[in-house]
Amino acid sequence: LSSRASTVLSALDIRADRELPGVYDGEWTGSGDVLESVCPTTGEVLARVKSATPAEVERAIQRSREAYKVIRSVPAPKRGEILRQIREALATKRDALGALVSLEMGKIRTEGEGEVQEFIDIADYGVGLSRMMNGRVVASERPGHSILEVPNPLGVVAVLSAFNFPVAVYGWNLALSLAAGNATLWKPAPSTPLCSIAVTKIVSEVLERNGVPGAVAGLVLGGKAVGEHVVGSSDVDMVSFTGSEAVGREVGKVVQGRFGKVLLELGGNNAAVVMPDADLNLAVSAVFFGAVGTAGQRCTTTRRLYLHSNVVEDFLARLEGLYQSVRPGDPLDRSTLLGPLHNRAAVQTYDTAIQHLKEIGAEIMTGGAPYRDLASPLNGGNFVMPTIAIPQEVNVKDKVWSTETFAPVLTVGVFDKLEQAIEWNNGVPQGLSSSLWTRDIRNVGKWIGPAGSDAGIVNVNVGTSGAEIGAAFGGNKSTGWGRESGGDAWKQYVRWSAATINFSDEAPLAQGVQFSN
Ligand code: NAD
Repeated sequence: LSSRASTVLSALDIRADRELPGVYDGEWTGSGDVLESVCPTTGEVLARVKSATPAEVERAIQRSREAYKVIRSVPAPKRGEILRQIREALATKRDALGALVSLEMGKIRTEGEGEVQEFIDIADYGVGLSRMMNGRVVASERPGHSILEVPNPLGVVAVLSAFNFPVAVYGWNLALSLAAGNATLWKPAPSTPLCSIAVTKIVSEVLERNGVPGAVAGLVLGGKAVGEHVVGSSDVDMVSFTGSEAVGREVGKVVQGRFGKVLLELGGNNAAVVMPDADLNLAVSAVFFGAVGTAGQRCTTTRRLYLHSNVVEDFLARLEGLYQSVRPGDPLDRSTLLGPLHNRAAVQTYDTAIQHLKEIGAEIMTGGAPYRDLASPLNGGNFVMPTIAIPQEVNVKDKVWSTETFAPVLTVGVFDKLEQAIEWNNGVPQGLSSSLWTRDIRNVGKWIGPAGSDAGIVNVNVGTSGAEIGAAFGGNKSTGWGRESGGDAWKQYVRWSAATINFSDEAPLAQGVQFSN
């Protein structure tokens, strides 16, 4: 192993000289196919991990069910106390875990640490929530009656997550799910196994220290087959899925088909709209971060840029300057702003998108090719040039505008009226994040109102990318309508009951119905 990799792994006691077990259900096991963790920056194999066999997946699900029967009876504030300890354990490993995210996923250091911080923040939130997951008392129309709306723990919550947030997305789910009294079973992306093993180790040590079964936070590593097994199991009460539209569509059907609960967080195709009165200093740097940050691999990445005709020239000149100043580098190096794509397939997706842009006569203003001739060891990585493309027209039905290319390709269109930009913003299947740049309050009203952006995230003078945990996070339309993290998201992780209680000596029926002779 290279010294850059072994420094990161040894800080978390990850042994790369043997095949690692990829299943945790109270014990560490795993005897299925071997997954390789490949460093996107250098191409180096970091470790080999044994995935779950079908029998191991089934056993993990059953152990989760048993663990649920224990955790559901632990008082919620006590569950909060366990979360507080998880938060503390994560905080002591923040830098080491952040570096592992950079090494294995490929995002830059500050973003890797930011992901761990997000887990810490949502754990804090879950601690507070554990004392606030209140039901309601509803006025009854019948004398001597009360109606209670009661939130109880739901059961087993499976979390299927994507490669691009290998720590935070699990954190959002685990914090709410544990506060709510559920057992959580994690099926992470197969290409970031080390992040999920490191996180599960930290969490399970806290659970075991508190006398709680480790299967309260289980792990099954594997690919599609393991995912399908978990999704199809009627012993899994809720599936929280984060990933692509294509897979999410299938997952949604399967879970609906067995009347399970499903929460979908799928692809985004996010637009920034810049009005003539915008503060361009702020807008240019926000679009730069939104489009180039994480090498274009966030669900909230800015993929479409709609510029008012009055600002096009100035805006693009400044943005192009920033694009040309950025250099690819090792994401572990704190001065790097541009890391690699996560895998070779993503480079292929990027190439295909650029090819199509050329075919439809788009101007490639900057970028447009993978980096070649990088010095060793970066020559083994998946580095591509961030690209600005200007198609001849905005046709939101064309795949250039209507599909999510998970790479740093920003497509630019020009408008004269805000209404036109909103129509383009809304004219695509996805509805995750959106951002308007203006200082005119009338534009703000239009943008956030009934005829405004139809996305789940509707920002003003804030880029599309980079959400806080306090508000509910998620998107509409083909992004899946899911909401995670803050707001009312916790209400999905419980089983609601309406309990009518009669304290009187009569038994009147609702609506005054009489049924006696
Ligand atoms: P993906 O859909 O390929 O994989 C997601 C997960 O599903 C992985 O764990 C994968 O192993 C599993 N999986 C694959 N096939 C399956 C099947 N048939 N049944 C069950 N599980 C299956 O996604 P990806 O490439 O890892 O991630 C990138 C995508 O995720 C992008 O579209 C991105 O926008 C999206 N994403 C969305 C959000 C959000 O909050 N909306 C956040 C992060 C990423």
